[in-house]
Amino acid sequence: MNTYAPCPECGGTTAQKVRFTWWGGVLGPKILTHVKCPRCGKAYNGKSGKENTSGIVLYTVALAFVVLGLVVVMFAALAALMTATR
Ligand SMILES: [Zn+2]
Repeated sequence: MNTYAPCPECGGTTAQKVRFTWWGGVLGPKILTHVKCPRCGKAYNGKSGKENTSGIVLYTVALAFVVLGLVVVMFAALAALMTATR
């Protein structure tokens, strides 16, 4: 039984779910339905059957913004704390 879209590279329908990627860790491939074709090794979006590149870029950018936002908030909190305790 296979619930994923056929491979855009070779048309194979035996795609497997990718559990971990360097760009998204464990959560990224889960969100983007990232699957990999065992016949040609092509990784793609198992829902749409298209390349996941734009999704990966979007995910990475979103993640960068979240991390950047956290850093900004942390520094703001630190600055506020320093002002308050002076
Ligand atoms: Zn394939």
